[in-house]
Amino acid sequence: MDPASKIGLILELLDQHYPNAHCTLDFKNPLQLLVATVLSAQCTDARVNQVTPALFQKYPAAAHYARAPLAELEQDIYTTGFYRQKAKSIKAICQALAEKHGGQVPASLTELVKLPGIGRKTANVILGNAFGIPGIVVDTHMGRVAARLGLTRQKDPVKVEFDLMPLVPKERWVKFSHQMIWHGRQVCTAPKPQCARCPLLKYCDYGQQAKRNVG
Ligand code: SF4
Repeated sequence: MDPASKIGLILELLDQHYPNAHCTLDFKNPLQLLVATVLSAQCTDARVNQVTPALFQKYPAAAHYARAPLAELEQDIYTTGFYRQKAKSIKAICQALAEKHGGQVPASLTELVKLPGIGRKTANVILGNAFGIPGIVVDTHMGRVAARLGLTRQKDPVKVEFDLMPLVPKERWVKFSHQMIWHGRQVCTAPKPQCARCPLLKYCDYGQQAKRNVG
């Protein structure tokens, strides 16, 4: 089936199986989500959520991160891994926020991707979850699951995003992103997808091909 013919069925099944899919990072404002998203690179959301309560209390505003000594910030986020790069990144982002946006996170894709180290993926996470502005998040899970389902032939995340945008109704972009990411974490895992127990098997190019190969 071509992507346009099956997307409605896939969305229905995602709704049935992941009705409560949501952002699993804890946050109370756009800045907190931005920092948590930077910390979540190569780290589980659960671990990030262990670190952020104390971090958010210590650094309530962008200016606090911007003027923090780098070594101290590194210590504060140490357990999330890649702490040197992440601390540098958070500091640079917050310096830009303090200098150009009055310390506020801009609610605009164009402005968000101008922040140091912020790409469309992170920008769409912030827009969708902190501002309620639709965006499709193409992380490693979304890219893999969309390709296996046959919704895209692209590998580049931005090209995948542009393939998915016309297929999925805009009001579904945020929820669809969470559902696909949850599906990628729980069922359509990277090394060995669990096709036999996958609710999307009937509409999945990879799963159908794998079935034919076994048969
Ligand atoms: Fe992933 Fe297999 Fe499900 Fe396709 S059928 S989405 S490859 S788990």
